[in-house]
Amino acid sequence: MVTSGSLSVPDRGRCGGLGAARRCRTVTWSPSVTLVPSRGCFNACGYCSFRRPPDPGDPLADALSDHEARQVLRQRPQAAEVLLLSGEVAPGSPWRSAWFARLLALSRLALAVGRLPHTNAGPLSLREMAALGRLNPSMGLMLEGLGPAYDALHRQAPSKRLATRLGQLEQAGRLGIPFTTGLLLGVGETHADRRRALKLLAELQRRWGHLQEVILQPWRPHGERALLLDDRRCGELLETIVAARRILPAEVHLQLPPNLWPLERLPQALEAGIDDLGGIDVHDVINPAYPQPGIEPLQSLLERAGWQLRPRLCVHPGWQVRLPPVLRRRCEILAERLPALGQA
Ligand code: SF4
Repeated sequence: MVTSGSLSVPDRGRCGGLGAARRCRTVTWSPSVTLVPSRGCFNACGYCSFRRPPDPGDPLADALSDHEARQVLRQRPQAAEVLLLSGEVAPGSPWRSAWFARLLALSRLALAVGRLPHTNAGPLSLREMAALGRLNPSMGLMLEGLGPAYDALHRQAPSKRLATRLGQLEQAGRLGIPFTTGLLLGVGETHADRRRALKLLAELQRRWGHLQEVILQPWRPHGERALLLDDRRCGELLETIVAARRILPAEVHLQLPPNLWPLERLPQALEAGIDDLGGIDVHDVINPAYPQPGIEPLQSLLERAGWQLRPRLCVHPGWQVRLPPVLRRRCEILAERLPALGQA
């Protein structure tokens, strides 16, 4: 169990543009680059614009090679975190082992070039998760939510069953892997559904202490279905942030993707309880219709509101004590370079 004594406490650093006397609160982000091992996915979630239907003759026809991965990594030298975000191959499929071998190879490649992999590739067997956990200082899987609205969206997505997702979070806890999860908000769920989901996450955290962050992700559909986050939806999401801060143990960071939220209202979300903006790459491969904000404008906006934007690694400091020595050492080395990486 992570004790509060070993966890990071929000800094109260000085805001550069605000004069020596004024101190401000801290919100973190992770300089990140995304690798997509494959977009082929045996699930078909009702909202997904990332997935490609897998080619039955070769579901890994689009698999990312090491050569292609190196090219992507070279284009973003400032990214300490390599987010491996993949479509899923069904458990039991004859292609599963080749797909999993790609995840391992890309994780090793990320480490070999001095970065930290963070894999989010759907449910994994105990053996698969343990193997990736030796290479990834942190991993992730969204809970997404519970209730009829999610059931409807996930009718064609067997790996999104609630019991499967909770089992994965439990398994990561047993393995001691620092973990990111989150809720997809605004798909038609009720406030009670949101609270029940947050309470389940709080129970998991009390049992295992491995949930380093919970993403509160507004659902932002694409194309013709694109929805504005109007005042009513923003208000409801702010209420959920406040509820999440009350329900989840204090050490769990609350994350909001800044490209999915009106920037001018970001300070309100921070006041409500958000303290992390997650991995920020040049593009959001899951939500390409919503451009990422530049770091400099983001920094200025937050400084004006009394917040300091600070870069972090994919694993928060309080959880690094859990890592194998090799990964812990890698974190120490990268942590020294973070201030420079965060300027990019
Ligand atoms: S599991 Fe992920 S990639 Fe697959 S369809 Fe659902 S959201 Fe898309």
